[in-house]
Amino acid sequence: MKLTNNRLYLDYNATAPLDEAVFKWLTEGVFPFGNPSSIHNSGKLSKKLINSTRDYLFKVFKLHEHQLFFHSGATEGINDIIKGFCLKSMSLKENFHVVAFKSDHSCIVNQRDHVELLGGGFHLLDVDESGLYQEDEVIAFINSLDGRVLFNHTYINNETGVVWDLLKAQKIKEATNCFIHVDAVQLIGKWKDIKLEDSIDSYTFSAHKFGGMKGVGFSFISTGNDFNCSLIRGGGQQESLRSGTENVFGIYSIKLALESILESFNFEKSLKNKEHLETTLLKRYADKITIVGENSPRNANTTYLIVKDVKTDILITAFDMAGIDLSSGSACSSGAIKPSRVLMSMGFSEDEAKNSIRMSFSPKLDCMKEATDKITKVFDRFLL
Ligand code: PLP
Repeated sequence: MKLTNNRLYLDYNATAPLDEAVFKWLTEGVFPFGNPSSIHNSGKLSKKLINSTRDYLFKVFKLHEHQLFFHSGATEGINDIIKGFCLKSMSLKENFHVVAFKSDHSCIVNQRDHVELLGGGFHLLDVDESGLYQEDEVIAFINSLDGRVLFNHTYINNETGVVWDLLKAQKIKEATNCFIHVDAVQLIGKWKDIKLEDSIDSYTFSAHKFGGMKGVGFSFISTGNDFNCSLIRGGGQQESLRSGTENVFGIYSIKLALESILESFNFEKSLKNKEHLETTLLKRYADKITIVGENSPRNANTTYLIVKDVKTDILITAFDMAGIDLSSGSACSSGAIKPSRVLMSMGFSEDEAKNSIRMSFSPKLDCMKEATDKITKVFDRFLL
């Protein structure tokens, strides 16, 4: 079984190891160093790498009516889009609202004070026990608001792996004329189809989730300039959408990692792997575990469990000592375990939300049987 630094690494939704193609490129050391804004040869070489990444991303995602900007990762990109939407609304002297879900990532959920400070409304909706939402309810809610609305649709939830159909976002757009942002951070290497839709206003991705470098990401926004995204002012790089000298290594790592994953990722195979693990766990531990979102559309790499009467921190420590890295969505920065906000938003109790554990696999994992044996060995100690 191929280990990562001697560990069975099952925390791909938190971050992925650097893709081999990126590692090879970096260690070969033949890369441009010039400032991409400089007009000498070294600068032009850096610019060329940025442009080739840009062209590649438009080709892969098949978008024709968007601009692209690189940033320091999805947290920055999403902050830019939400606050850029607020600023644009303010400049138009119109009321505005941001609508999202309690199950969305913290970089969305924690925007309330800024949006309200800018004079907007901030609304977090619940999801149902399957991690899904009803578009009719969202449409009615958005239509009840007065002014411009930005709605966040998370393509794949980072804790549960539950997938929200892009069609839903399109329907909401058609029925309400709101602006839509799609948090697509967990999409690549985890779902069968990565084609995006021109009718959606904005999308955000993060390189480190699919083998690129940390601290770099990209967002697409519609060319209509509905967002005033240029929150970071300076030398006017990236058509003024995001000033600051570009992170050329990081940006090119996006292209290399994406090429590599698109070449090797086999959705059906990944799904079969996950099904093998889940069937084994359900057979072995029956009523002692719950697979969150079991009957919802879910991605190929995420199994999120509630384990009866065993606390998350105890489980994570036991797995850690057995050489397995995994996590829950509920560790706060101090390392203390808080009940999972996502589970609570789905209607699970606080106790259940404290007993959760997430396994998220490599898109290239080819040894699920051995991995499953290693995983059950740890669970056996608590559940048999
Ligand atoms: N959105 C989702 C769904 C995520 O999973 C993450 C990272 O965990 C983010 C946004 C933030 O990404 P970044 O680490 O690039 O800031």
